[in-house]
Amino acid sequence: MLDQTTYRDCPACAGTAATVVPEYSPEPWAVAGCDGCGFVFLRNPPAHQAFEEDFAWEKTYFAKRDASGKGSTPFSPIARKVRNGLGMYRDKTRKFRAWFDDGHVLDVGCGWGQRITPPMTPYGIELSAALHEIADETMRERGGYCLHGAGADAIWEFPANSFDGIVMFSYLEHEAEVMPVLKGAHRALKPGGGVFIRVPNYGSINRRVVGPKWCGFRYPDHVNYFTLQSLRDVAARAGFTTQLINRISLPVDDNISVLLRKTQSSS
Ligand SMILES: [Zn+2]
Repeated sequence: MLDQTTYRDCPACAGTAATVVPEYSPEPWAVAGCDGCGFVFLRNPPAHQAFEEDFAWEKTYFAKRDASGKGSTPFSPIARKVRNGLGMYRDKTRKFRAWFDDGHVLDVGCGWGQRITPPMTPYGIELSAALHEIADETMRERGGYCLHGAGADAIWEFPANSFDGIVMFSYLEHEAEVMPVLKGAHRALKPGGGVFIRVPNYGSINRRVVGPKWCGFRYPDHVNYFTLQSLRDVAARAGFTTQLINRISLPVDDNISVLLRKTQSSS
């Protein structure tokens, strides 16, 4: 499966030195913290082609569930209780409509393309050929379309200043090319637009409690492990300011949700 033995540099700061975290690095994977900026990432991700196979994500998810011998991924009961109490699983459609002014919205890693609904006009990028075909058909019926490819490449194919909103929902943790896709988003976004990002929260209490069994670890699907600070840092490098959405629940939330706005032109 792994046909790439070269280690990548830090996707956040391009630093070449990083220290492996042994307890989070089952063979043959190497999860490491950047010596320069502290960003935690998978140093040896497979090439994109490995993920183009249909439903690659679902396959590894269920393989992991079966291997654990349980029906669900482990997380602490207290965290679960608090999360449910805070209503952290709500559909984001109402917020997308408000933030993005019912406009043109790009969903990067859109799956089968159901997340952005009318009156918003949906656009998408999807790596899986089978899912892309379904998404493109749905989006064309609703006035948009879907590109087939990797997010960091395909996002540059849209004209500049195209979108009122861009959504990266459980996507950026899979994307080896963090800065190219964020800079591409900056370019594709209208001046007043926003980028919604939801990624696993490496800074969560739950990760520290359950350790290597934390639900955010997926090998090799998840190649970036963000904290709020490292997410802010990469967003700032791409020319964005970061607003935290799940402000109250963040410490006990296994995910981080943020809304980025353009500051000025990215460097
Ligand atoms: Zn770094």
